[in-house]
Order: sequence, then C-alpha cells, then structure tokens
Amino acid sequence: MHLLIMGPPGVGKGTQAKELKNKLGIIHISTGEILRSEIKKNSDVGIIAKRYIDQGKLVSDDILIDIIKKRLIKPDCYKGYLLDGFPRTIPQATGLKKIMNALNHDLDSAINLIANEDELINRILERKMKSGRSDDTLAIIKKRQKIYWKKTAPIIEFYMKMGILKNVNGLGEIKNITDKILKIIN
Ligand code: AMP
Repeated sequence: MHLLIMGPPGVGKGTQAKELKNKLGIIHISTGEILRSEIKKNSDVGIIAKRYIDQGKLVSDDILIDIIKKRLIKPDCYKGYLLDGFPRTIPQATGLKKIMNALNHDLDSAINLIANEDELINRILERKMKSGRSDDTLAIIKKRQKIYWKKTAPIIEFYMKMGILKNVNGLGEIKNITDKILKIIN
C-alpha cells in the first residue's frame, strides 16, 4: 500500500501517520523528520535546510525530490509506505509521480486532513511545549500557514483529478480520526 497524508501545519499529519504505519504495517516517511535529522548531522543538506525551516519557508523542490528518490528505492519500502509532508508543491507532486512510475508503485490514496486555522494555531502552540521545534512560534506558524495555502493547497486538486483524494476531518479524538482514515482508504 502506498499512501500520502497532507493538510495544513498542525492538523496532526505526524500523529496520524504514526498510528497508521502500525495498523497497516507500512513505513512512515516524514520529510520534516528527515530534514531535522540532516540538521542534527550538520550535513550539507541540513545546513541549507535549516535556513529555510527556521524561517517557516519551504526547502527547495530539487532537494526534496532528491531525498524522496533516494528513500523510495530502499528495501524497507517494498512493504509499502506512507508519505508525510511530501509533496508540498505541484512540482514535488509531479516529481513523485515520475519516481513512483519508474518504480512501478501506484499511489493508492492521498489523505487530506481538514481543520480550521485558529484551531491549528492553538494545536501548534501546545505542540511547541513538547517538541521544542524551532519553527513552532506564532509568527513562523502564521507564515507556514500562508505558504501552505499558496504553495501546498493546489496539490489537493492535483490528487482530486487523479481520483484518489480522501478528505477526512482532522479535528477530534486521535483514535476516531485514525478509524475514519482506515475506513475511507479500504
Ligand atoms: P514538517 O515536519 O512536515 O512540518 O516540516 C517541517 C519543515 O520542513 C517545513 O516547514 C519545511 O520548511 C520543511 N519541509 C518538510 N517537508 C518539505 C517539503 N516536502 N518541501 C519543502 N520543505 C519541506
């Protein structure tokens, strides 16, 4: 099974992805986590990525497409995967399509988590207490949301046209949302 999960910052993509990977026996690939680990390693990619992440901006499509290209050929991807935080732009969505076609992988569903903006800001501020993430501040959150609507939201239509978009309300109990997702993708 090949899935992706999308939605505005703070909607709970990471939380749901962790639940779903256990239930479905597939791996979870979070580009945000990959970039944060590159930053920790102080690698070339990490040094570039940090500048963008700390400002709430998107890292370049070329870097992200290259990361995914190298990640999806690893043996642990054979059993299926759930992409979290990728794609975030139309060029990334078309890049992913090409990579998956070359690997003979079909994207089964694009799960789109929906929630209103005020609720999302509250959630991110709560998350900040636990995560310590440098990009979880009010000013950066607002910027990330603006960028989301401008650059990322157009991929909703991209997947709608492909006929694999699955909209799910992202507000409520974690378990209920997971159950709704499992129902809609099966
Ligand atoms: P996330 O953990 O998914 O919220 O990602 C944290 C940050 O990493 C984002 O705000 C971006 O700066 C960067 N990032 C993660 N995934 C991507 C992507 N697919 N394209 C561009 N930037 C990304």
